[in-house]
Amino acid sequence: MERTFIAIKPDGVQRKLVAEVIRRFETKGFTLVGLKLMQVSRELAEQHYDVHREKPFFAGLVDFIISAPLVAMVWEGEGVVASARTIIGATNPLTAAPGTIRGDLGVSIGRNLIHGSDAVETAQREIALWFKEEELVSWSPSLTDWLYE
Ligand code: GDP
Ligand code: MG
Repeated sequence: MERTFIAIKPDGVQRKLVAEVIRRFETKGFTLVGLKLMQVSRELAEQHYDVHREKPFFAGLVDFIISAPLVAMVWEGEGVVASARTIIGATNPLTAAPGTIRGDLGVSIGRNLIHGSDAVETAQREIALWFKEEELVSWSPSLTDWLYE
C-alpha cells in the first residue's frame, strides 16, 4: 500500500491546526501509520529540503522549520501521495484553491502550514529520513471494505 510523508509545519502547530489537518486526511479515508511531535534539528531540516539548498529561501526555510515544534506523520492509502498534494493545495496559499488546506487556512508562501511528499519515490526517501521502521504501525482499519471496492 502506498505511503506518504506529511508534516504540519511550525506555523500549523502554533495556530492549533493539528486536529484540522489530521481531520482532513482521516475523513478522506486515508490511514495514519506514524505520528510524532518533534523539535527538528538543523541537520534533519537541511536534509529534508536538500533539493532547495541553492534557493534564496533555503536558509529562512530551515530556520523556520526548526523554530518551534512540528508534527511529522505517515499516511497510507491507494494513490495517497498525489491525493495528499491535492488536499494540501498549491505552494502559495494565496493562489491555492479553496477547499485545500493551504487555500483555506493560509496567506503566505513562507507560512504554508504543511508539507507533503511530491512523488512516490520522494515519499520513500522522506519516510526513511523522518521515521525509524519500528515507529510505523501497519494496520488495516476494519472499514476498509467500505472505502475500497
Ligand atoms: P511544496 O512542495 O509545495 O511545499 O513547495 P516546494 O517544494 O517548491 O518548496 C518547499 C517549501 O519552501 C514550500 O512549502 C515553502 O514553505 C518554501 N518556499 C517555496 N518557494 C518559496 C518562496 O518563493 N519564498 C519563500 N519564502 N518560501 C518558499
Ligand atoms: Mg516540495
